[in-house]
Amino acid sequence: MANLNIDSIKDRTFDAIVIGSGMSGGWAAKEFTGKGLKTLMLERGRDVKHIKDYPTTNMYPWEFEHRGELPMAVQEANPIVNRCYAFHEDAAHFFVKDKEHPYVQDKPFDWIRGYQVGGKSLLWARQTQRWSDFDFEGPARDGFAVDWPIRYKDIAPWYSYVEKFAGISGNKDGLAELPDGEFLPAFPLNSVEDYFSKHVKSKYSNRHVISARCAHLSKPNQIHLDQGRAQCQERILCQRGCPFGGYFSANSSTIPWALRSGNLTLRPFSVVQSIIYDENLGKATGVRIVDTNTKETIDYFARVIFVNAAALNTNLVLLNSTSHRFPNGLGNDSGVLGKYVAFHNYSAHISAEYDGFKEWTTDGRNPAGGGYIPRFRNVRKQETDFLRGYASGFSAHRRRERNWDGVGSSLKENLVSDELGPWSVGSHMMGETIPKEASYVALDARQKDDWGVPLLKISMDYDDNDAKMKKDYVDQLTEMFTSAGFTNIKASTDQRAPGLDIHEMGGARMGNDPKTSILNKWNQLHAVNNVYVTDGACMTSTSCQNPSLTYMALTARAVDHAVNEMNKRNI
Ligand SMILES: Cc1cc2nc3c(=O)[nH]c(=O)nc-3n(C[C@H](O)[C@H](O)[C@H](O)COP(=O)(O)OP(=O)(O)OC[C@H]3O[C@@H](n4cnc5c(N)ncnc54)[C@H](O)[C@@H]3O)c2cc1C
Repeated sequence: MANLNIDSIKDRTFDAIVIGSGMSGGWAAKEFTGKGLKTLMLERGRDVKHIKDYPTTNMYPWEFEHRGELPMAVQEANPIVNRCYAFHEDAAHFFVKDKEHPYVQDKPFDWIRGYQVGGKSLLWARQTQRWSDFDFEGPARDGFAVDWPIRYKDIAPWYSYVEKFAGISGNKDGLAELPDGEFLPAFPLNSVEDYFSKHVKSKYSNRHVISARCAHLSKPNQIHLDQGRAQCQERILCQRGCPFGGYFSANSSTIPWALRSGNLTLRPFSVVQSIIYDENLGKATGVRIVDTNTKETIDYFARVIFVNAAALNTNLVLLNSTSHRFPNGLGNDSGVLGKYVAFHNYSAHISAEYDGFKEWTTDGRNPAGGGYIPRFRNVRKQETDFLRGYASGFSAHRRRERNWDGVGSSLKENLVSDELGPWSVGSHMMGETIPKEASYVALDARQKDDWGVPLLKISMDYDDNDAKMKKDYVDQLTEMFTSAGFTNIKASTDQRAPGLDIHEMGGARMGNDPKTSILNKWNQLHAVNNVYVTDGACMTSTSCQNPSLTYMALTARAVDHAVNEMNKRNI
């Protein structure tokens, strides 16, 4: 019997454990297995195998029972996730439904999640920009949060490393505020986007409209073909899962690559409850999971643990990992675990029309979505009454004037004879929010989920800085649109709750001082050096770039560090 137990423990012992199989966890698994470490990847949701488990990927619009929409009953039963722009009939199966995994909204918060192998990497909009030193220096310069313990030079080689493997399309624009990367050819701007880009360049020295940078194989290199991926077909059906692997997801790229090494054990249906801490060793020794099929509690062991459950769930796992040494959550000597969470603010938009370029239309599709306007406010110095700034999306398309009158054959005839209308142009704000102590996530004191884990209580809100930033976005974009000759300009702001923009960050922030931060410059817990956090929970501030590329780069860098430390027997 004793031997059996020893064997069983041996079977449950790995070199590395990765919690979560999404965007960042996929990278951790790829890097560990590539360096020869036997790695266990634990995922709370079901498996989603590339191609095989994309049930809607090749469906025509008329093959959907509800023509792509979701029935009212489903929408009404899911008021939170239904607010996400991508929650439709073709991809609803990749989203967490409201009642499946409840949480406590101390203040309104739309928590959009994907609990399956691949996480939200199946669903993302693939926008990928590097941070610059203007972003890393933000908190120190402007006096909020704590100073980032790293600068651009620390992460630049790792951006290059992950970009080459993932495949990022873009132009070398030569902008200090948005460093160039290792790009595949960009998806070009259309005629009106290009016109606006040239106009803005001629009028403003510090404002630029560039081709959006995105994780699509515009022209694959050998490394992408080796992954079994192929050129993006510009179908724009990405959220269904791409059978070509045309866009980067953990399912099409990092996870199959890691599996091919023979070093990865992927265990879906495994909710990590907590990380096990051994006081005598002063280290984490493993993790405790609940198998969601059998309800069994099982411990797994490893020398190093990476927490990649996505920002807020990573906070939950750490907060729920209590011991005599860490009564308030693993590594939480400072008391800041769960605090200083923040998010992106996309709640302002502007639309207009353009009466030129009538000889051109937009028959093609652009998976990058059009243009991107890097942050131009408060970049080099403080110039407004609010801190930090916003990037903006920009796109244009030729409108079709359709006559929807009639029913049956008369409707069909009316629809066929559609005419081209003016160009529609539009933009949305992508604003940075400031992490504050009062913004926090915590364990609910009373309610638990089906696996015995306390529900997460979420409490964060907008502030005056966000209101001023929104006003500035509207003013500046209105000015830029007006001067470009756009007409019928309509700016709008909405009252969405935080969260809907799906870039929540912080709670286990990086910093130099263990008294005010949870992680050091290598993403290691200050107090438990064999536990690393490399998803959004590690972010000291949010800046305004889409964050996932930075999580990927930080993850690859942290694995490299962890393996070096293991080789030196420091962990
Ligand atoms: C519609 C949409 C559009 C987006 N667009 C962009 C974009 O354009 N650019 C960009 O940069 N980002 C975008 N994002 C955000 C992006 O998807 C996330 O930043 C990214 O997926 C985060 O990676 P992650 O590894 O932290 O989390 P995820 O990819 O969410 O993976 C986390 C995984 O951990 C699992 N997990 C959670 N808790 C546990 C537990 N206790 N035990 C075991 N497993 C657990 C989850 O099931 C999940 O599979 C978008 C997201 C959505 C939904």
